[in-house]
Amino acid sequence: MNDFDRTPRVLVSGAGIAGLALALQLVRSGVHTTIVERAAAPRPGGQAVDLRGASREVAERLGIMADIDRYRVHEEGMSYVDGEGRVFGRMSMADFDGEGAVAEIEIARGDLAQVLLDALRTAADAAPGLLDLRFGDRLTALTQDATGVDAEFEHAASGRFDIVVGADGVHSLTRRLAFGPEEQFATYLGGYAAFFTMPTPVDLEENWFAMRFVPGATFGIRPDLDPATSKAILTFRMDRDPSLRGDRTAQEALIRERIAGAGWHAPVVLEALGAASDLYFDELVRIDVPDVANGRVVLLGDAASCGSPMTGQGTATALIGAYLLAARIAATPDDAPGALRRYSADIAPFAEKGKEIPGGGIKRMVPATKFEAAMSRAMTRVMFSKAMLPLVRRMFSGGTSLPLPDVAVPVA
Ligand SMILES: Cc1cc2nc3c(=O)[nH]c(=O)nc-3n(C[C@H](O)[C@H](O)[C@H](O)COP(=O)(O)OP(=O)(O)OC[C@H]3O[C@@H](n4cnc5c(N)ncnc54)[C@H](O)[C@@H]3O)c2cc1C
Repeated sequence: MNDFDRTPRVLVSGAGIAGLALALQLVRSGVHTTIVERAAAPRPGGQAVDLRGASREVAERLGIMADIDRYRVHEEGMSYVDGEGRVFGRMSMADFDGEGAVAEIEIARGDLAQVLLDALRTAADAAPGLLDLRFGDRLTALTQDATGVDAEFEHAASGRFDIVVGADGVHSLTRRLAFGPEEQFATYLGGYAAFFTMPTPVDLEENWFAMRFVPGATFGIRPDLDPATSKAILTFRMDRDPSLRGDRTAQEALIRERIAGAGWHAPVVLEALGAASDLYFDELVRIDVPDVANGRVVLLGDAASCGSPMTGQGTATALIGAYLLAARIAATPDDAPGALRRYSADIAPFAEKGKEIPGGGIKRMVPATKFEAAMSRAMTRVMFSKAMLPLVRRMFSGGTSLPLPDVAVPVA
């Protein structure tokens, strides 16, 4: 054991999928866990994320599949429509054996976060004193030495921890404090993404995730758990505009400018935008951190590696990472730096594959001109044909196709 002479104390910054999944396993294995989340309450929102291969196996090992089932979104598949709503390409979930763009298990990101939070609260009730979950606070400083890390917070009193985990997303503050400025690790991928909940348009084909290409934007409407609502999904191709960060008025103006006049359900999407309470808007960024472990500080989820929402892999990589990290911490509680080093090697292949964008980058996904929009339609017809099944399966599996290392998280 180290100088704490007790079970390790772990600080997790960020209560997203990565932070919650890690905390759940740490608390179950008897580790003192503090989570600090900047938002005042659990953050809802996000479109459906899929569980397949290794990420599904992690969910099974965590024992949360029955809860996930309660929130499972039923999707028949993905279709592409023109300005009148006529379908010109389809990839059905069944035809692609649940391994195309839509997987057999789809759950809204916010609902998955809720499942993990409920499981965490249950685990904490069974082991009083192990969990300190704080919303509305954040780290302000980190200083590590050979035996621990001192952390300071905006509101709470400072504390000393054996391990600090940065699970605070693509713009991670932990990364900035312990590894270096964001510019050192981030590559702009040429666009922005927006997601929000909207009322389901009356004549939308039920249970289909429908997408439309227009010059400069690709936008879609995706089924939600409640049939009365759907998720709007928008991707824009453009140069980076730092003034958009945190400015909702400017974000809405961009969305309106890009899809006004785009036909299909664009007016319904734009009407819902102003009222949306869960608008998520961010630049598309790739994050590469050569070594996610730095002494007693480690990065997890998007903070450590991210290929943007275009990969569809962020949540899967976060779940896999949380499982592998919890296993390493639990295996050598008296050797925190060693556990983090071993984790860094474990996650590397999953992280690398998880950054691959199916079908290429933004230039393939979002046409810039009318001509490119026509080309995108033609290519979609080809990609969505059954002959492409093996290729499509490889494209959408990312790191989830790799086998999980043979490690386990003990339950105290
Ligand atoms: C509201 C929301 C909606 C999303 N929607 C989608 C989507 O539709 N499609 C998609 O592909 N991806 C989406 N993402 C990203 C997706 O959740 C991640 O790619 C993936 O799940 C990995 O999660 P993560 O926990 O590493 O990061 P995130 O899900 O980004 O979670 C990071 C958490 O850290 C918190 N945080 C940030 N900074 C600090 C700080 N300084 N101190 C404390 N806490 C902090 C954030 O509030 C957040 O709760 C969304 C993320 C969020 C937060």
